[in-house]
Amino acid sequence: MQDCIFCKMVSKEIPVETVYEDEHVLVFKDVKPEAPIHLLLIPKKHITSLLDLDEEDIEVAGRIQLTCAHLAREMGLVERGFRVVCNCGDDAGQAVMHIHYHLLAGRLLKWPPG
Ligand code: AMP
Ligand code: ZN
Repeated sequence: MQDCIFCKMVSKEIPVETVYEDEHVLVFKDVKPEAPIHLLLIPKKHITSLLDLDEEDIEVAGRIQLTCAHLAREMGLVERGFRVVCNCGDDAGQAVMHIHYHLLAGRLLKWPPG
C-alpha cells in the first residue's frame, strides 16, 4: 500500500535489517527497542490491524505465531521467556497502520503493561 512505511520495508524501498523473511512474513529489529531484543513481525501483505484480518489471512496469522516460536528457540529465549504483543487501535497505542507483532525479550517484562 502506498504511504505505508512497513509496505515500503517489504518492497525494500526503505532499507531494512532483516532478521527473518519468507514468502509471507518479514521480521526486522524495532528502530526504538524497548527491550534488549525487540523484533517486529509483519505479514508482507498490507493488513491494517488485527480487526482487518479475515478468513484468507488465517495462514499468515498462524505463520507469524510459528515464526515467533521458531525465532525464540533460535535466539535462545525459551528458558527465560519472551512476550508477543499486537497493539490494535488508539488506546493500545498502535502507531503504524500495518499489522505487526512485537517480540520482546531479554529483560523482565512487567505485567500489566503501562
Ligand atoms: P505500535 O505502537 O505497536 O504501532 O508500534 C510501532 C513500532 O514500529 C514502534 O515500536 C516503532 O519503534 C517501530 N517502527 C516505526 N518505524 C520503524 C522503522 N522504520 N523500522 C523499524 N521499526 C520501526
Ligand atoms: Zn502496509
